[in-house]
Amino acid sequence: MNPTDASLPLRQSIDPSRQGFVHSVESGGTVDGPGIRFVLFLNGCPLRCQYCHNPDTWRLRDGKLREAEELLEELAGYASFLKRAKGGVTISGGEPLMQPEFCETLFRGAKEMGLHTVLDSSGHLHERAPDSLFEVVDLVLLDVKSGTDEQYRKVTAKPLQPTLDFAARMERLRVPMWARFVLVPGLTDDPENVRQVAKHIAAMKTVERVEILPFHQMASYKYEELKLDYPLKDTEAASAHDVVMAWSIFSEEGVFGLQKPSG
Ligand code: SF4
Repeated sequence: MNPTDASLPLRQSIDPSRQGFVHSVESGGTVDGPGIRFVLFLNGCPLRCQYCHNPDTWRLRDGKLREAEELLEELAGYASFLKRAKGGVTISGGEPLMQPEFCETLFRGAKEMGLHTVLDSSGHLHERAPDSLFEVVDLVLLDVKSGTDEQYRKVTAKPLQPTLDFAARMERLRVPMWARFVLVPGLTDDPENVRQVAKHIAAMKTVERVEILPFHQMASYKYEELKLDYPLKDTEAASAHDVVMAWSIFSEEGVFGLQKPSG
């Protein structure tokens, strides 16, 4: 079934705890949490990050409607390997919290297999998710996209506060986090913005590890295919020097040493 067909059932007619819109599945991911991971990329995202590498995940219904049961069967085939590889399952996107019930079903199934679970999120929609979801999340990868509300809105077209509220909630629920910041020349690399990001991360008590991810040009072709304007098409990749400069600011704010592996 093509999910963009007018014949696709309305959201109300699907069971959101059993069915969800999935962009793709990667069975050997190495960058979305510890070890080797089964990564599910879900569709739907309310943000519009200028540097987004996955604009094809933005619209919920551009994803393929999949059954949680069928995905868990697929995951089960990898479970013993993932455990030996000290990995597990990661749900990314898009923004997974567009489909919180689906995430909870998948994570509960993964925990029954004894797998480590990671949620990759901006936190923006966390109010949609019940606390019970986070009972089956071992680690959150939290993207902190900029340090001030003005800059965050420039980068994402949405406010910063939900991300900070989500981090406070993860502290209350004692969920470990890895904080991530994408360094984009001319967009997020202003030293004052980097410092504000570092200050926010320094205040997040469950952060175990911090990653600065240098921007690189990999998504231009997707924007061309989707006929979308790519605001960063002429932006150069962040250099090693740019990353060192950002780390030096993070260090001044006391977050340089946060590299404890989780899981
Ligand atoms: S939150 Fe992620 S998926 Fe959504 S626009 Fe930003 S980078 Fe893209």
